Amino acid sequence: MTKFSELNLNPKVLKAVEDAGYETPTPIQLGAIPPALEGRDVLGIAQTGTGKTASFVLPMITQLARGRARARMPRSLVLCPTRELAAQVAENFENYAKYVKLTKALLIGGVSFKEQDQLIDRGVDVLIATPGRLLDHFERGKLLLTGVQIMVVDEADRMLDMGFIPDIERIFGLVPFTRQTLFFSATMAPEIERITNTFLSNPARIEVARQATASETIEQALVMLQPSRRDRAASEKRALLRALIEREGEACTNAIIFCNRKTDVDIVAKSLKQHGYDAQPIHGDLDQSKRTEVLQGFRDGTIRFLCASDVAARGLDIPNVSHIFNFDVPSHAEDYIHRIGRTGRAGKSGKAFMICEPRDAKNLEAVERLIEREIPRVDSPLAGAIREEAPKSPVRGGNDGDKPSGRARSSRSRSRKDDAPREEAPREERPREDRPREEAAAKPGREESPSRASSSRARKPSGNGGGKGVVGMGDHLPGFIAQSFDERRED
Ligand code: AMP
Repeated sequence: MTKFSELNLNPKVLKAVEDAGYETPTPIQLGAIPPALEGRDVLGIAQTGTGKTASFVLPMITQLARGRARARMPRSLVLCPTRELAAQVAENFENYAKYVKLTKALLIGGVSFKEQDQLIDRGVDVLIATPGRLLDHFERGKLLLTGVQIMVVDEADRMLDMGFIPDIERIFGLVPFTRQTLFFSATMAPEIERITNTFLSNPARIEVARQATASETIEQALVMLQPSRRDRAASEKRALLRALIEREGEACTNAIIFCNRKTDVDIVAKSLKQHGYDAQPIHGDLDQSKRTEVLQGFRDGTIRFLCASDVAARGLDIPNVSHIFNFDVPSHAEDYIHRIGRTGRAGKSGKAFMICEPRDAKNLEAVERLIEREIPRVDSPLAGAIREEAPKSPVRGGNDGDKPSGRARSSRSRSRKDDAPREEAPREERPREDRPREEAAAKPGREESPSRASSSRARKPSGNGGGKGVVGMGDHLPGFIAQSFDERRED
């Protein structure tokens, strides 16, 4: 079996990999690192959890270890769809470049432009950014992208979902034609295919098994809920969630609870807290400092239950999540894969429950079709207390599978009025500063668009080592992010 030591990585990078406890590269690493080190373009079709971050971070550090950055001209650029993902990539750079002198900056929304400007002014080797914030900096004339030698697009399919593709195309036009591109996506939608055909040059294409089929370590289960009365559906669902948690007992060391809507994220977190559970919400409407604080609390085990929206939790690498509870059946089937992929990571086992009401039959059908299997139905811990009903699996049912069972159907038609707004409810909106340019440009006073930035500018960031070049992350700067901005280079 090939070892990291056989991959021609810089010895200092290898040492950091050893420190992290890894000896054998994962398939995406094995496929992507050699061509990336040769300077070739790479198209990696892989999800989070496969080790894809290290597959671009390790060769990048090796290549960037030579040479140095010039003011306002980053030498490499990593684009991520969300702030959390960007922070996570920054953490990877910090870990794997601990023996190499590299300067890094994280440009994400919700933090002060001024401090970010200062870092860029000094010159950075690695710039990690969300597309919207990067373009904001560029348009303010503070950043030159003509020195970028390596450009990474991470989670391109998520970029597509979030409407960032025009931004990405624009950024591709701002970096040098001769750059190297490392491009990662979990799926290859036609639009993604088009982008890669346009902007990648003869890439090494590496495809690793999809998580849904690969991860046999995740035990999935579906619990049906037939509310006793329409107006009790929400509270009965929360009671069912609590009963599921209780039934899991100590095996449930921690859990992420996914809701489709931000309002429900808040309601479920509040309700759990009222019932004595240690729960916190995370979604795009929360202040960045709060999001970072909650995430850090969940990572270090001080928060047991994280109630999350899809956008906020997408791609997060939190090791040791024992349980996932899908409070709602996701309205976009692929979100199911991303949700359950938060557990069962790195070979560990995990359990993923999903609560399903009869009115969710269509969405359930889409999920089961996507994962090409029926999610095992399990008894509700509230059996008897609330009337439940398990419709036939929509996957196996052929034509019938398109329709819920008779009772479910009548329940759907009865409650159609209630269902309508639910089905039409928009997916979580992105943080304002991460919106695509066109929208932002349509607004006057666009400079003000990073509203959270201006509010956080007013606050003095703390925990940053006395202003040692830490990009502002609000008041609560977790250690791992602070480390990413440790200024090692004393020019
Ligand atoms: P990613 O797909 O980048 O989100 O990584 C998922 C997880 O796999 C992270 O916790 C990494 O630390 C871990 N990981 C990365 N490379 C390896 C490796 N070669 N062997 C085992 N775990 C790894």
